[in-house]
Amino acid sequence: MTFFKNNKFLIFLLAVIVSGYIVYNYYPQYLDFLLKPTQREIYKRTLKNTPGDLLKFNELEQLALSDSILVNNTHFEYIQTNDSLPFAAGYLLDIALGKTAQIAIASNVPWILEAYDTSNKLLQEAVIQNDTLKLDLRFNKSQTVKIVVQARLHENSQAALIMELSPKFEFPLSGKGNASIQSFWGASRGGGSRSHEGNDIFAPKGHPAVAAVNGIVSSVRNRGLGGKQVWLRDDDTGYSLYYAHLDDWNVKENQRVKRGDTLGFVGNTGNARTTPPHLHFGIYTSSGAIDPKPFIWKMDKATSFSIPGVVSKLQTFGKSANLRLQPSSDGQVLKLLSENVTVTVLGTLSQWYHVRTQDGITGYLHRSVVK
Ligand SMILES: [Zn+2]
Repeated sequence: MTFFKNNKFLIFLLAVIVSGYIVYNYYPQYLDFLLKPTQREIYKRTLKNTPGDLLKFNELEQLALSDSILVNNTHFEYIQTNDSLPFAAGYLLDIALGKTAQIAIASNVPWILEAYDTSNKLLQEAVIQNDTLKLDLRFNKSQTVKIVVQARLHENSQAALIMELSPKFEFPLSGKGNASIQSFWGASRGGGSRSHEGNDIFAPKGHPAVAAVNGIVSSVRNRGLGGKQVWLRDDDTGYSLYYAHLDDWNVKENQRVKRGDTLGFVGNTGNARTTPPHLHFGIYTSSGAIDPKPFIWKMDKATSFSIPGVVSKLQTFGKSANLRLQPSSDGQVLKLLSENVTVTVLGTLSQWYHVRTQDGITGYLHRSVVK
């Protein structure tokens, strides 16, 4: 009798497996809430009935993943795609400790925009915000990422691709910037007995010192070299941020604060008694102090230029058509192209073209060496 009972169960199990298989293969959208497919995977489903297109799209993905051109701190490029030359390219971007990266595509058609690590593991895909496709990359270590940009097939479009790095933290003095930092990490202190473990940021007495991160005020105290000081523990990294020489406080211990909240006011307490008022700003990790500068140093913004006309092929001329790894005249030369070589244009920068050679290598060519 138990055999029949088990048999019923087996039939039930078989029915679940068969219907699961059918849904997975023919109606995968019903499992999206579980499987969380990427935009790339969702798009590939639409190519299921055109195997030639699917093959081409996959080949372009592999080509983009094998690209290795470098991006400067800011990058502004008009990329273009059309039916016969669908856009696909990869860019390597170094995000130093203390920096975050923002990558955006402003376009009237959807693109695939993703970040991979250097072993081609997907780290993050872009999301749509205010009609712009955006990637916001923040890591708690320095990280090299490969940005992959790919157009859908059979689209005709030109789009602005913008990549920028920014400091991870809010600047610790409200309304101030790089020029106010006048003493850096490592400067000699105490007649050479110590080295400066922070940045000195100058502002008039009473200027608001603000929370550089969301976190908890772990200590408010008046003692030693730092005088009146606030210690703020960052929710994200666990680092302790040190604000010293304050004239007065605006927070209490264990208070939760958000970026930009006023912690206290610039002064010259502690061993700053004889110096102009300034904030000594430090960052302490579990393994000691680190240089705060990259976390607060504001970066240049990418500079836009007017939309260029669409050029899909160019020919080199002159004797030094250097295909470069970076869009700068001291960028590493990948290849010296001889005269009258035809290249495909992927995108246009203000002084450079982003091109692909017939053997599949991408790089930058200066405007002066092509026609
Ligand atoms: Zn200092």
